[in-house]
Amino acid sequence: MSEFVNPYTFVRFVGEVTRAEPNGHEASGDGRLSGCLRVCVTVRTPLLLGGWGTSGQPKVPSRPDGTTMIPGSSLLGAVRSLHEAIVGGCLRVLDMDYVPVHRHPAHVGFTEDLALAVVVDAGDGRGRLPKVALCDEVVWVDKDLLAPIGPSLRLAATGDRLTLLASAEEVNGRRVLRASRVPASAVGVNPASVASSELCPWVLLVTDTRARSGATAYFAAGRLGARGALVTPEAWSTYLQCVEGSRDVVERRAEQRERTGGRDQGVGGPADEEFDDQLREVVWPPPTERRSTGTPIARRLAARPFLRKGQPVWVRVDGGEVTEIRLSQLWRRRGEHPVRHRVGEAGPCTDPKNLCWSCRVFGSADVSGRLDDAAATQHSYRGHVRVDDLAAVGECPIGDVCELAPLSSPRPSAGQFYLDASGAGTALAGSSQPPAATWGSLADRTRAGVRPVRGRKFYWRTADPTGGDYPRFRRRDHHTDETTSSARLVLPGAVFEGRITFDNLNLVDLGSLVLALDPRPLWPEGSDDRIVTSVGGGKPFGFGAISVAVRLERADSAPARYLGASAANDFGPGEVIRDAVATCIADVPPAARAGWKGLRHALTLGFVDDADVWYPPGEGDRGSAGYDQGFRFWEASAGVEVETEKRPLTALPDPAGSPSGQLLPADAAQPKHTQP
Ligand SMILES: [Zn+2]
Repeated sequence: MSEFVNPYTFVRFVGEVTRAEPNGHEASGDGRLSGCLRVCVTVRTPLLLGGWGTSGQPKVPSRPDGTTMIPGSSLLGAVRSLHEAIVGGCLRVLDMDYVPVHRHPAHVGFTEDLALAVVVDAGDGRGRLPKVALCDEVVWVDKDLLAPIGPSLRLAATGDRLTLLASAEEVNGRRVLRASRVPASAVGVNPASVASSELCPWVLLVTDTRARSGATAYFAAGRLGARGALVTPEAWSTYLQCVEGSRDVVERRAEQRERTGGRDQGVGGPADEEFDDQLREVVWPPPTERRSTGTPIARRLAARPFLRKGQPVWVRVDGGEVTEIRLSQLWRRRGEHPVRHRVGEAGPCTDPKNLCWSCRVFGSADVSGRLDDAAATQHSYRGHVRVDDLAAVGECPIGDVCELAPLSSPRPSAGQFYLDASGAGTALAGSSQPPAATWGSLADRTRAGVRPVRGRKFYWRTADPTGGDYPRFRRRDHHTDETTSSARLVLPGAVFEGRITFDNLNLVDLGSLVLALDPRPLWPEGSDDRIVTSVGGGKPFGFGAISVAVRLERADSAPARYLGASAANDFGPGEVIRDAVATCIADVPPAARAGWKGLRHALTLGFVDDADVWYPPGEGDRGSAGYDQGFRFWEASAGVEVETEKRPLTALPDPAGSPSGQLLPADAAQPKHTQP
């Protein structure tokens, strides 16, 4: 397939949020309503409801009497998300200071002025920052000169001390020792523990071979100099952020979770892990999509949120201080402009007296963090809506245990998808610049300003997520046990019923609640039964589509409640709902309304063709490992011009467009000579 539809899209939002004082909970004002709704949920695509895990038999949630149920909290969360999109609520982003970490592009411009250094004091992880000694010379040593040593044929490792008995030659501005030019005996490798600095002044840094090309690999060796430098607090904090999402740290966390039965204990410090346990073999030839094995040639130190005494690192030095630390020359860099610069006023509400519509109805939990419980409570606002668990009505069809493919984690570093570059023009970054897709690139420096976040994320509602030869949810042969899980799905046709109670809401708020349960009336031709809402997990697979029918069971306006008469009885429950919905639709600010067309498409079952929906595919056939590796797409869509081709910034299509308009080319790169 050369074209695909990405599983998620973004419903447009503008960074405008209308806020006001909420109704409060003390006294019911004029025209406020309390009461309850009865909802009937019909399952349209399989539901993944809790109880899915890697251990034990997966179960669906049920009440003590065995009746299958949808937990009220699940439905409440889903209703709230849709409410935010309909009325223009705040974005409940947890971390407004988030900026993604990007890889350094492979260009000499990103490695200029780096110095090799050796950690002389690792710091204490609290107040005392690491200190390094700078190397006064760097030589790149051919892997073939780092022969295994000792009776156990131990592989050379990061931190080993070298004696270099031949002089290096200059190649492309680097001093190198090539195996083809010097005898194997020209390099002596000694474990740091037995070598003295005077006899072996060179320190070896082995790094991953994964992204390398060429006939052989070279590793840097630095000769220890006398000059020292202290790491600045900013450089250390950036290092910690950059190392956090690295493959090594992610793997270490997974190991720790495995060991502690799921509790995240963090990665720990140097005392929790022996130096030798932190070493990883690197192989040659390097692993690729098609080949994962090679011959071990040396050992590198796994990336960790701490450094070790004697560990070589690359640093940038400014005014005698270390302002940047890298574990390899091309490593990881923090993007620029955190989320808070990119959401306008749509960041989470923080003032309980001035809340967006969604927070006024559903409440606002304080997410600014780091406050003690009492302070957090003060800054929160309790919602006006409570959702009871919904119980299955009649026979509830439940599927057999099935094996699920891993859910891929969000990658907001992919700015071509997550940021709105529509005002940024089409400029491509040169190969010496960060690609336009990355956070803080040239696309954030146009007259339009910093690119805003793209919108609210929705997953396309595919009509038959378990059909076809390779349904996306099904575990494939190349998926490992650690990433997959098993589940039992509630099947289409199941029906659930339950109750939603509300208190002290205006008619217009009640209307917004009803629309967030059943959004069909938002569109005048509102009888389209393909418009659904979603609940539960596995949305990327197309799971969780439901139709909700809402009926007003009881509504008392405040005076009526005390006088014993029912407002619902005066008007008839259907009329109250219709009135509430119409009032709400008329009241939604234009900024929120602007996203409705895209929202409608994103909520329409089967709007895009099931067969087209996949994460950016790689090479090979659907179902193969290569097909599930989309890095060629990310590379080809990053907005950069390299020697041989132009790689235009490829944005996600606007969901307000047509179904065929959602298709993206799997490889948008153009050979340069075909361009005018
Ligand atoms: Zn809010």
